[in-house]
Amino acid sequence: MSRVYNFSAGPSMLPLEVLERAQKEMLDCNGSGQSVMEMSHRSKEYQAIIDDAEALLREIMNIPDNYKVLFLQGGASTQFAMIPLNLGNKNKKADYVITGQWAKKAFAEGKRYLEAHDIASSADKTFSYLPKVDKSMLTPGADFVHITYNNTIYGTHFNTMPDFGDAVVVSDMSSCILSEEVDVSKFGLIYAGAQKNMGPAGVTVVIVREDLIGNAMEFTPTMLNYETHASNGSMFNTPPTYAIYICKLVFEWIKNMGGIPVMHEKNVKKAKVLYDFLDQSSMFKGTVVPEDRSLMNVPFVTDSDELNAKFIAEAKAKGFVNLKGHRTVGGMRASIYNAMPLEGVEALVAFMKEFEANNK
Ligand SMILES: *Cc1c(COP(=O)(O)O)cnc(C)c1O
Repeated sequence: MSRVYNFSAGPSMLPLEVLERAQKEMLDCNGSGQSVMEMSHRSKEYQAIIDDAEALLREIMNIPDNYKVLFLQGGASTQFAMIPLNLGNKNKKADYVITGQWAKKAFAEGKRYLEAHDIASSADKTFSYLPKVDKSMLTPGADFVHITYNNTIYGTHFNTMPDFGDAVVVSDMSSCILSEEVDVSKFGLIYAGAQKNMGPAGVTVVIVREDLIGNAMEFTPTMLNYETHASNGSMFNTPPTYAIYICKLVFEWIKNMGGIPVMHEKNVKKAKVLYDFLDQSSMFKGTVVPEDRSLMNVPFVTDSDELNAKFIAEAKAKGFVNLKGHRTVGGMRASIYNAMPLEGVEALVAFMKEFEANNK
């Protein structure tokens, strides 16, 4: 068996230990005589799995008791609609910070249901930095302010949490959840599609303060109402059972490693190897201002499209796959989520050095 180093932005690498455990339990999970895929979601075997998943996530993220944890479908993109539908029914106004494609999409969807304000944007410099935002910029009476904590495509990250005072802060953490410690109590709602840093595609985690549930707009579809899922333990209908099971294995893997603080330390170390190289290279350049750099997604370029293409092709041949940048940025992007080992980043940098020397 030969496995590649996969730098995909998502779906992305999963820890080898998790895949091996899933393989071991594929035909017979826990003496049940069945695969998790074959289990009734109403069975006691499956109930134990989803309960464990929630308990583990609460433990590793330190989620306060007054927050619900929901396992939903429809991707992070469905949250772009669910958030205004459920949280925007007081004053029908909300603020959005525009820091990339995902933020733009969230904003566009918000506009369908309420008066949405784009209070700040970094579109002027292709989202290569984060605009400074604080509570003085918020619209009076806004029901929430939406931020994208880590911008997967552009490689920016809120390295200091903006001070929004008492506002309800909603945060898209699809590409940074579980990579760093987060004070959940500072947020009204956190959401994340699983396929970046949590598990396989198909499940979206929503962590929402209880008092924000139960006030959805009148026409909200039943399936898009948080109350529906909160009052049914994410089992109003059939949940994405296997995806939740893999997430549970990932949560266990993080816990056994020492938890999120240890994960974060590893992520800092990993990202430093790559950024340090980029900062001294005369061929490769990072595209983000240093203070807003992401630990998870690292976009970089050379000064020629031909060289970029050559690099991507040669890297692929050496087992470094999915390094092509997003179509809107070009160049390269290395996504180095929790599951990417330090050796993977070191091997990539060694290859980049070699490529630079050979293509002077
Ligand atoms: C990938 C991504 C999304 C979209 O997720 P889907 O699950 O495909 O809907 C939204 N926001 C961010 C920050 C992402 O990285």
